[in-house]
Amino acid sequence: MISEKMKGLVAGNSVIRAMFEEGKKMAKEFGRENVYDFSLGNPSVRPPKEVREAMVKILETEDENYVHGYMSNGGYEEVREKIAASLNKRFGTHLAGKNILMTVGAAGGLNVILKTLLNPGDEVLTFTPFFVEYRNYVNNFDGVLVQLPVNFAGGFRPDPEALAAAITPKTKALIVNTPNNPTGVVYSAEDITKIADVLRAKQEEYGTEIYLIADEPYRELAYDGVEVPYLTNFYDNTIVGYSYSKSLSLPGERIGYLVIPDEVTDADTVIAGATVANRILGFVNAPSLIQLTVAECLDSEVDVAAYDRNRKLLYESLIGMGYHCIKPEGAFYLFVETPVDDKAFSEKAKEEHLLVVPGSSFGCANYVRIAYCVDYDMIERSLPAFRRVAEYYGLA
Ligand code: PLP
Repeated sequence: MISEKMKGLVAGNSVIRAMFEEGKKMAKEFGRENVYDFSLGNPSVRPPKEVREAMVKILETEDENYVHGYMSNGGYEEVREKIAASLNKRFGTHLAGKNILMTVGAAGGLNVILKTLLNPGDEVLTFTPFFVEYRNYVNNFDGVLVQLPVNFAGGFRPDPEALAAAITPKTKALIVNTPNNPTGVVYSAEDITKIADVLRAKQEEYGTEIYLIADEPYRELAYDGVEVPYLTNFYDNTIVGYSYSKSLSLPGERIGYLVIPDEVTDADTVIAGATVANRILGFVNAPSLIQLTVAECLDSEVDVAAYDRNRKLLYESLIGMGYHCIKPEGAFYLFVETPVDDKAFSEKAKEEHLLVVPGSSFGCANYVRIAYCVDYDMIERSLPAFRRVAEYYGLA
């Protein structure tokens, strides 16, 4: 029999994944072109051609035992050094290879750092709405996820007062995610300065360490020239989790990294702990071929303009139909207010073959998340269905 803890997890299995499976079933029944699946954040834009070229070149020219072998648990040294140099150039940081730990995507990185930091009962705060899996990741290490109240009036921006009110001596970390899934909000330098001020004051007050964990899979997906500040430049105890899942459209390759700067308290111990965590969580090391590949593609980009076109079409169309939602500045999601309970709304949308994810999965009821990392054509074809739902609820 499986464990009690696992029984609960199976029962509450991811709504997003369930939707994705439902979408596949519906596509079989009604035809792929008649189902509008906006459920999963699976990139629709192709990886840049440099990824394939680099991979082929590595396979053709490098020693096979090197390319497919074990390496240090933190990753290939030269890969980590190249990433550190690239970050230093882009963000004015002072990182060395040892400050970079190659991980199995952002998910792997978050689990590694939470395993490294958390004692049972430690609190991890996050602004709401938040990426559903944070709850599981924190629970994996017997921590407690504390959801900060939704800042509706402030357009889902972080609320420093709510943050200050929620911090206790048991607070070990704050996870922030910008550009944000599910809202598309990008935190400004001013937002981050305020967060950093609160964290510093509370560290002082309680004599504790409060880590700022920046979950950044969407860093490169920002629109209209909006700046995405680099968080280590604002607060010393910052650890960044990065991923190539979205920035190079490689989610199945499972590759990313953690940045643990020297400014973090006891940085060497944290780095040592994270390296061991990477091993003993069973990752051992991040996948080897794709580590070597991304190191050759640090200046490559996906076609962000394609997501931007989707964003504009969907946002403008939905607003025109009477839906309410803030204009996303980054990532590839719209977070749309629902005129009724979000689950009821999603069911109604499903009758029109539209798959969207209820906001309650992100801790925020009466909203749905619409992932627009899909073909432009599908958005165009889906608009009459969105209109029928809007008319049904009398939005227009
Ligand atoms: N964090 C956020 C906010 C995400 O949206 C996702 C994936 O969608 C992840 C982490 C996990 O990403 P990865 O594929 O790099 O593990």
